[in-house]
Amino acid sequence: MAEAAAPAVYFDTHAHLADPALSGEADALLRRARDAGVELVVAVGYDLPTSEASVELARRAGIWAAVGIHPNSASAADPAALARIGDLARDPRVVAVGETGLDYYRDRVSPTAQRRAFESHLAIADAVDKPVVVHDREAHEDVLRTLLAWALERSRRGKRSVPGVLHCFSGDLGMAEAAIEAGLLISFAGNLTYRSASKLADVARRVDLGAVVVETDCPYLAPAPRRGGRNEPCNVVLVAERLAELRGLPVIEVARQTTANALRLFGLETSMAVGQPADRAS
Ligand SMILES: [Zn+2]
Repeated sequence: MAEAAAPAVYFDTHAHLADPALSGEADALLRRARDAGVELVVAVGYDLPTSEASVELARRAGIWAAVGIHPNSASAADPAALARIGDLARDPRVVAVGETGLDYYRDRVSPTAQRRAFESHLAIADAVDKPVVVHDREAHEDVLRTLLAWALERSRRGKRSVPGVLHCFSGDLGMAEAAIEAGLLISFAGNLTYRSASKLADVARRVDLGAVVVETDCPYLAPAPRRGGRNEPCNVVLVAERLAELRGLPVIEVARQTTANALRLFGLETSMAVGQPADRAS
């Protein structure tokens, strides 16, 4: 007889819980998430206010924070703001630096300013020895080149094994494999469920599942069949279900593997046994 099915525990590795579209409803959102098996969430900041608010949200059991200034807001990444991000990044509830990265699709901020802010976030991640959460939109080459050089340098200096994650992955299999070879993880979001995403589906089918995590990127990017609506952490189950379908695996396997990968990414394996999220004493 097959072993008794443990309940699937999902980890939404990228949720903008502090976004004004969600921030007033954290309790209700997280209740719906838990009801769906989404016990673990990283609240990701994209500017100073949402980074600070994410750290506050991470007082809750099962919630952690990432702090950073999004490339589309990189013009706000002045020395004072970066110093504040650096301070926040030291908080034990903060498990990653970001989101940072490069966005050549939107031209609100010059590529030069974006690259400068990205490098500053990498330096902060080094200083606190935490992984980076990387946004890459139509900037595959520059993102990959920067990260590979950084990850190599970091491993030479004996830093932690997971340098970061390419969130809402949109590259091809070659890019995924190069990133994984350098120790990075890749994260699939709701766009994996879109019928138009056949190239991404092909990457999801073939990539090493030991290096994959899932996310919502809520309140944006709601997966099918909720596309166009407001997104929230419970919907990460739909991303995992699509990944399971593409891999020909039971969804519980995908939940188990991606949650284990996420715990490794954020350095949480020791504080948490998969399937038994402990309430933190505080
Ligand atoms: Zn995001």
